[in-house]
Amino acid sequence: PSRASKAVAAMPSDRSTLQITHPERVIDPSTGLTKIDLVRYYASVADWLMPHLARRPVAVVRAPEGVDGQQFFQKHVDGDELIVIRDAAAVLQFTQLNAVEFHTWNAQADKLDRPDRIIFDLDPGTGVSWAQVRESALLVRALLRELGLESWLKTSGGKGLHVVVPLMRRHDHATCKAFSQAVVQHLAVTLPKRFSAKSGPRNRVGKVFADYLRNGEGQTTAAAFSARARPGLGVSMPIHWDQLDEVKRGDQWTIADARDHLSLRREDPWKAYWQHHQTLTAAIKLLAS
Ligand code: ATP
Ligand code: MN
Ligand code: MN
Repeated sequence: PSRASKAVAAMPSDRSTLQITHPERVIDPSTGLTKIDLVRYYASVADWLMPHLARRPVAVVRAPEGVDGQQFFQKHVDGDELIVIRDAAAVLQFTQLNAVEFHTWNAQADKLDRPDRIIFDLDPGTGVSWAQVRESALLVRALLRELGLESWLKTSGGKGLHVVVPLMRRHDHATCKAFSQAVVQHLAVTLPKRFSAKSGPRNRVGKVFADYLRNGEGQTTAAAFSARARPGLGVSMPIHWDQLDEVKRGDQWTIADARDHLSLRREDPWKAYWQHHQTLTAAIKLLAS
């Protein structure tokens, strides 16, 4: 049976019962950041995070021994029900259970078979400079624009960038995946020194792998404002295309400074994302012609 037919569990979120155990436990030895620092980070960005998280099936990455220990990628709470996080209190409850990262589907729970976005996950291979990563994002954006599609940008909180294309809920996962694969193949054929359309470290030495595999059914990507269970505790930060020049790394913002960055920002760089209506129909034809 398709995952789309599965039930969805909403997490309980009774704020009054939330107790953080081991608040002072260091979860990132490289910075000394603790479990309570992470809880405070999520509490402080909840209003920014929830629009990206709520209504979608999520997967969490739990790191009970901190970022240097074993990690667990969890897609279900009990049995095979998908997880949906309804509110900030539930985010904090997961954090209490040592969740560090929150990843989301491209579809919302009420229409699991009709994604409302596609994502190009730009993964730099070894020997790729940040200037090349930045250029690859601009090239993805330019090709999408040629195809009539607007896209939005975020850091991954790790090594790369994510380019996100909002969609009306018309197409199925297979259509979205086929389209994103065609976009990446086009880039790899026309700019073979810059892009690889194949995963695997050996295929991307000196190149950026524009990973379209985030777009299949049941696939997930770290949500905007999710922390990352890696040294430094980077966070995935939405940025304006005009600000890309000022970004130097995929983990430029971390749980320690993301909140200050948000309060200094003039406006939400993704403000127009939520109102932007577009479909793949014309783009698919243009790319094939
Ligand atoms: P970076 O910029 O460093 O690449 P990223 O978040 O884009 O950071 P990737 O390695 O490119 O990381 O992507 C991993 C993706 O695979 C995540 O988006 C995640 O949702 C998904 N995923 C699927 N299974 C797992 C798993 N077992 N552990 C971690 N991620 C998983
Ligand atoms: Mn990536
Ligand atoms: Mn990837």
